[in-house]
Amino acid sequence: MKRRSLFETTATLGLGALAGCALPGVAQNGAQAAAKTPFTVPATYVPIVGSDLMFPVRRIYCIGRNYAAHAREMGSDPTREPPFFFQKPTDAIQNVPPGKIVDHSYPPLTKNYHYEVELVAALHRGGRDIPIASALELVYAYGIGLDMTRRDLQRGMGDQKKPWEIGKSFDQSAPIGPLHLVGQTGHFTKGNIWLKVNGVVKQNADLSQMIWSVAEQISKLSEAFELMPGDIIYSGTPENVGPVVRGDVIDCHIDGLPNLGIKIV
Ligand code: MN
Repeated sequence: MKRRSLFETTATLGLGALAGCALPGVAQNGAQAAAKTPFTVPATYVPIVGSDLMFPVRRIYCIGRNYAAHAREMGSDPTREPPFFFQKPTDAIQNVPPGKIVDHSYPPLTKNYHYEVELVAALHRGGRDIPIASALELVYAYGIGLDMTRRDLQRGMGDQKKPWEIGKSFDQSAPIGPLHLVGQTGHFTKGNIWLKVNGVVKQNADLSQMIWSVAEQISKLSEAFELMPGDIIYSGTPENVGPVVRGDVIDCHIDGLPNLGIKIV
């Protein structure tokens, strides 16, 4: 039967990919993608400005405490600590079109829901042990994002020396605007980054105040993980993080990118 032979073909291709055969255009996890499955699981994409292409998201990495004043407000000494990273699940992405204010659901379990505005770097190349000097060659595009945080749960778990997941890695915890190609914007090493709640400025800093630059973050991350095309990196938030409640409108800005807006509902 035609249908069946198609499945057999894709299964064979999948095994080939698993065995490490280099098949052009077949991802490392192509075996799953081509497999016969009982149901489908949606992939995660972020729109690319000025293109009909969508950026496929593989992993979401986030750096912690990457602005000195924010590190201090979180109770650590920024001068002595190496960078650290955590991940959010890919489907934590909430796409937010530019010029719109999109509803964002107040998540369960928290009574202290915080905003963190961040520059996001999206990679089209990967590798291990990337030197800082060539790290920016991995960056394909930039966007503006929010690392939404259930601060009470994050702190509670931290106090118990347990993982941060429940505070950081929940559904829709990663709102993001569309991606802008490096070729059009250049790299973001400086520029104003701010966040307002209901029109009042809460966070206001400059990207140049990052403790670890995007290039340094890529280099450090690649010591711990093999980076791959499709990985994105939330590059940390400035000081003055704080809570929002239902009805609040968050407006985020990075010089050179359209603002990102969500309403907590
Ligand atoms: Mn953050």
